[in-house]
Amino acid sequence: MGSNKGHIEFIVNPKSGAILKKRTARKFENYLRDKGWEVLVRRTKSMVHVCELATKAATDAECDIVVVVGGDGTVREVAHGLEGSGKKLMIVPSGTENLLATELGLSDDYRKLVRVFEAGFTRELDLGSANGRCFTSIAGFGFDGDIVKKVSEKRSGHITHLDYVQPILETFRDYDFPTLKVVADDEEIFNARGVVFVGNISRYARGIQILHQADYGDGLLDVCVYKCASKVEFIKHFARTVLKLNAGAEDVIYTQCKKVYINSPSENVRTELDGDPGPSLPVKIELIPQAVSVFVPRAGKAARLGDRIKQMFKQE
Ligand SMILES: [Mg+2]
Repeated sequence: MGSNKGHIEFIVNPKSGAILKKRTARKFENYLRDKGWEVLVRRTKSMVHVCELATKAATDAECDIVVVVGGDGTVREVAHGLEGSGKKLMIVPSGTENLLATELGLSDDYRKLVRVFEAGFTRELDLGSANGRCFTSIAGFGFDGDIVKKVSEKRSGHITHLDYVQPILETFRDYDFPTLKVVADDEEIFNARGVVFVGNISRYARGIQILHQADYGDGLLDVCVYKCASKVEFIKHFARTVLKLNAGAEDVIYTQCKKVYINSPSENVRTELDGDPGPSLPVKIELIPQAVSVFVPRAGKAARLGDRIKQMFKQE
């Protein structure tokens, strides 16, 4: 990439990222300047501000490309702001999980990022909208919604994987698996006790594959329901998911659709969108097809387990 007509909006979440990742972002910024690009750095103040910056970039005729430096939440807000604009988006992952970036085959390795940028290959990314709130990756209903709520209540700035340990243990201790009703494309597919995931990418936290058939640009949402009324059943689902044995199991419902409706008779069901607290039930999810063009490696393979583990150790 080097057609230096316009400028690059370089949107940075200063709160996200360990020191090593901040260094990668700085090197990438310098690389762009060395290549002759005018780089306008925007430091974000809040998630609302992230979306405002991206919306501004979306309508700025002088802006050719948007670079986002941040975690999944920051990337989501930029994608939301750019929706339908045709602007190309380059992601420099610097969060704790970087679920979307990993699914796109991007890593936080400086040289690999430069290679992806120079190749100039992009793919269209679909977005999800849950009660009007945008998400890029996964919406969770129930168990993980509780965990995310607990983590976010304690959050102050950058979080590490250790921040999840206590919330996971507390949620496991207290969770009572309320009933969830799931309607996919106007057909009720589930109405019982369970845990539900809806999304657009195959991998969940730590690379666990829940929505194993998901493709981020196929115009479809993937829905996975774990029928589950007890801690023992939950552990069974979890173990099978880690071992990639959950596909086709009789207590798992898996489908693809364009819209999903989720509700519960219980008032205690929490939701999460891309790792942040989500809207209250009932939730209507719709797909926004081909919302943003993102730079991806041509091969487009999600990062291998070895690379993920290396990344994990770099973060803490
Ligand atoms: Mg999809």
